[in-house]
Amino acid sequence: MIEATDTRFCKNCLLMDQAEEDQKDLKKYLSVIRDEDKTDEKLYEERLNICRTCDKLIEATCEACGCYVEFRAAIKHGKCPKKKW
Ligand code: SF4
Repeated sequence: MIEATDTRFCKNCLLMDQAEEDQKDLKKYLSVIRDEDKTDEKLYEERLNICRTCDKLIEATCEACGCYVEFRAAIKHGKCPKKKW
């Protein structure tokens, strides 16, 4: 039987794909990154598209490093722990 809490996240979704509450959390996390340290929008989307197809993405978190991928990808000098971006 699937319980309500089991359907809150999908395996390959990001926080931006989740409920409004999770999107607020994402905005809060991203707001602490200084503008000069932020990835530009095009590169950010490219990184996230790679994460969306990665088997290490579990409920918006990278299983390889434990970070929210949207936060890691938003940092200009951030790196994928598996060198996919
Ligand atoms: S950061 Fe790298 S290893 Fe982690 S989910 Fe994204 S592509 Fe996969």
